[in-house]
Amino acid sequence: MADEQVVIDAMINGEKFKAEKQSPRENPAHPEEVVGYAPINTREDTVRAIEAAHNAFPSWAESSLDDRIRRMRSAIQNIKHRTSEIAKLLSREHGKPLYDSEGEIAVSLMWMEYACDNVAEVLKSDVQEHDSGRTIIAKDAIGVVSAISPWNYPISLSTIKIAPALLAGNTMVLKPSPLAPLAVSLVTEMIAEEFPPGVLNLVHGEADVGVELTSNPKVAKIAFTGGTETAKHIMKAAADTIKHMTLELGGNDAAIILSDFDVNDEKAMRRLVISNFLTAGQICMIAKRIYVDRSIHDEFVEKYIEAANRWIRVGDPFNEQTTIGPVNNKKQVEFVQSLVDDAKTKGARVVKLGKILDQDLYEKGYFMQPTVVIGANYDDPIVVEEQFGPTVPILPFNDDRHAIDLANDSIFGLTSSVWGEEKHAVKVARHIQAGTTMINTAAIQGLDVRFPFGGVKQSGMGREYGKEGLLAYTDTHVINIPDDKELPYIPE
Ligand code: NAD
Repeated sequence: MADEQVVIDAMINGEKFKAEKQSPRENPAHPEEVVGYAPINTREDTVRAIEAAHNAFPSWAESSLDDRIRRMRSAIQNIKHRTSEIAKLLSREHGKPLYDSEGEIAVSLMWMEYACDNVAEVLKSDVQEHDSGRTIIAKDAIGVVSAISPWNYPISLSTIKIAPALLAGNTMVLKPSPLAPLAVSLVTEMIAEEFPPGVLNLVHGEADVGVELTSNPKVAKIAFTGGTETAKHIMKAAADTIKHMTLELGGNDAAIILSDFDVNDEKAMRRLVISNFLTAGQICMIAKRIYVDRSIHDEFVEKYIEAANRWIRVGDPFNEQTTIGPVNNKKQVEFVQSLVDDAKTKGARVVKLGKILDQDLYEKGYFMQPTVVIGANYDDPIVVEEQFGPTVPILPFNDDRHAIDLANDSIFGLTSSVWGEEKHAVKVARHIQAGTTMINTAAIQGLDVRFPFGGVKQSGMGREYGKEGLLAYTDTHVINIPDDKELPYIPE
């Protein structure tokens, strides 16, 4: 498997479909290596996939829930058995270390199992006998769902949509990102094979495919994870046909380090470093700005650098020593570097972190040595923009109110974290505008598939994971059977 090229096709109505054009996917650690090819589908291909999902919907929505759960559990078993093969492919095309790819698959499976275990309770009709009759509050499937996923966690951010949508009786067309299209396609095919033709379809391509998926009148819901700017286009495209939407968008998550945080707590420092640099910082919910109480700022910076130097080892995703692999693509390297350079020009101190395991490889691939930026201005781009890469600014605050104001002074509100004595931290957390706030941990370390995840402000709308993440693929249908069928105040 290790060096084979993987060729992926679209899947429309249960059949593989060869597109006329394909795009190569390079290995970010060894850019000269083509890992595989994904199709570049056209708008016409996309229309066919939507038609297939539309035609499959009525009978799928009527199918028994037990049958749907059985099919999904069978897909889970198949993916489990092929975890190692899928993880290797993901690391080759994405650049994330093998442990990180395996972790992504494990979280995906955990969620799919949670969805199977809990969907019956969520879909159950609520039947109410009351003083004026009987009311059934049912949960219906919505229809065809267009799912669009990003490159950073392609498998988990696709299965997060596929499992609840299909279990609730919807059909779907999924479009992964061209920047990590291969492993997610393998997983999607494995799921699609367990379901009737047309229930789960797969297309690939660029924005034109996305535009069809988000504007076609036969699509009832959009489930999108990606950037906030892309979401603005999607909302406009979907406006004409008023589609349901779940939007999981960008973040610029603040980590607030309170005066009573113990800077000598090595485990806590390691957790913080990981929550800044896991997956080379390419996570929506990673801590992207650190605000530290001024009274401990200098000591914190010193200990933080020590902890980062202990954990960070930049190298090949398949080297067991590696904790951080390359950045996924060259454009992202250039963007993150431009933010760091800008801060430096304006007087900030930039400290390189960790070890480079193989200097030759580092020069050739899309690697970036992680950095911490000290003394940036509060309104520098490195602080106010989502970096989505291996760098983080540390800035001081004067008191808790100041920290809360700094954290909230953002268009984003995905996650956040507060570090210090627990009661104190919870008190501060209550004032932060975010979908999730974690105490003494952050990012993926504090994620739990049983609880709803999503953002406030321009970080999105709706929730994935938890029971809300299942409900998001249903619509409420009230069947009212009143005793008295006439309205008393309408004249004869
Ligand atoms: P992106 O917005 O560039 O792309 C996401 C997807 O949208 C891709 O599949 C892309 O091909 C597609 N797309 C592009 N233009 C489109 C259009 N006009 N219509 C429809 N689809 C279109 O995002 P990305 O660079 O792949 O991912 C990084 C971003 O995703 C970051 O901002 C990150 O914070 C965010 N993200 C959010 C979450 C979350 O759960 N909130 C999770 C992961 C990533």
